[in-house]
Amino acid sequence: MTEQYIQKLDQLDQHLTAINYSLALIEWDSRTLASKKGGEERSITVGAISKIYFEAFINDSTKETLDYLNQHLAELDDIHQAKTIYFTKEYHKISKIPADEFAQYTALLEKSTEAWEEARTKDDFSIFAPYLDQVIKTLKKFIQYRGYTKHPYNTLLDDYEPGLTVAVADQFFTNLKTKIVPLVQAISQKPLPAAMPVATYPVDQQAAFSTYIMEQLGFDANRGTIAESAHPFTLNLSRNDVRITTHYYENDLPSSVFSTIHETGHALYEQNISDRFGFSQLTSGVSMGIHESQSRIYENNFGRDLAFWDRHYAKLQSLFPEQLGTLALADFFRAINIVRPSLIRIEADEVTYPLHIMVRYEMEKMIFSQEIDVYDLPRLWNEKYQQYLGLSADNNAQGILQDVHWSAGLFGYFPSYALGSAYAAQFAHHIGQSIDIKNCLATGDMKPLLGWLSQNVHTYGSSKTPAEIIHSATGQDFNPDYYTDYLDRKYSQIYEL
Ligand code: ZN
Repeated sequence: MTEQYIQKLDQLDQHLTAINYSLALIEWDSRTLASKKGGEERSITVGAISKIYFEAFINDSTKETLDYLNQHLAELDDIHQAKTIYFTKEYHKISKIPADEFAQYTALLEKSTEAWEEARTKDDFSIFAPYLDQVIKTLKKFIQYRGYTKHPYNTLLDDYEPGLTVAVADQFFTNLKTKIVPLVQAISQKPLPAAMPVATYPVDQQAAFSTYIMEQLGFDANRGTIAESAHPFTLNLSRNDVRITTHYYENDLPSSVFSTIHETGHALYEQNISDRFGFSQLTSGVSMGIHESQSRIYENNFGRDLAFWDRHYAKLQSLFPEQLGTLALADFFRAINIVRPSLIRIEADEVTYPLHIMVRYEMEKMIFSQEIDVYDLPRLWNEKYQQYLGLSADNNAQGILQDVHWSAGLFGYFPSYALGSAYAAQFAHHIGQSIDIKNCLATGDMKPLLGWLSQNVHTYGSSKTPAEIIHSATGQDFNPDYYTDYLDRKYSQIYEL
């Protein structure tokens, strides 16, 4: 009997994974090569395939299978235990919201995203405000349907970082506030190092460096590829077809260098998930936060280290002899680690970045715990930027309207960006206990680092929770001190504090 239900679960898993594959392929296409004009037909197609997914998943047969397997969980092997837990959670998440209300919400999000675009272009928050209000009210209703423990915002946090709660996030952000805000203030008192030389960096040469560095980091080019898009991203069709994008600006070399390293970190995660799950939903990174830890450890902990560039700077200089030929390694290193409070999150440096996230977190927590007038949000935004970063935007386009997330209903998503960096610091600390990281970076032998990450993080896919992965990899629960200690140590040295 149990065998029969296990088979049904495997078939369902493979079927849903195949449907997701086709959706992912459309997404890849629309963000790289597809024509803008094809948008309408594409969205009809996505709607049709999403409906197929819903009907294949949410039905009595799935419910019966999951009910049976949950009652016999102890008899199952680890993979089928993980699959049962994974699909049961997904089933509850989707089935508790009435289908017609969800369809209305999806339509609202399209209009809301359009309104946000217009509001940002015209710098007029009032165009977006009524839609934002509707999105928030709908999400509050969905939280009631889905239920929550302790804090309504917990339900949304859990969507992107399973297990994350306001209690954990509060501790994390309080730690940031007390340690990073003063660090940024201390750095601001110091003279700014020279920035990268103003020059033209030909795109072909930048692309050549992307290919070189991906290979150096361990990206398997037989199981993935790179393309260009407006905003860099990683997309996995399967562990054998992992795709990344980058973006080339002729006058900004570090932008493509670090976005390629960042996305390669995401890609290494997907390429190194164990093949024992097969073509399964489990063959995918477990959460936004753990995913971001893998991109950030490569981008920042490894990729912005002096030892890393000790190895690779000569290659970069050989591709840009006129632009970088006379720039010393030490100056290049300081230029790629400049800290300067700024208004735009996606352009922020490693130290000020989490403060942008802290503003979003504090506002989201408030939005979902009390009645809020959306017209108060821009004022609140500016107050927090003044308090934490010492800046305020002249307009809402550079302030509260800068990111698409809220218009797309992505509340609870922002904290995972900052958590990723914090997880990365904890992983890096523990890697350093058994591996000479600087030596790996300086010699270009990245295998021990990728080996550690693959064995302790990548291999599990979505079969463990983020907290379980952190604990088994480091022998400890998540501890935000590693992150603030790392930033403090690194930047006190660079800025001679
Ligand atoms: Zn990322």
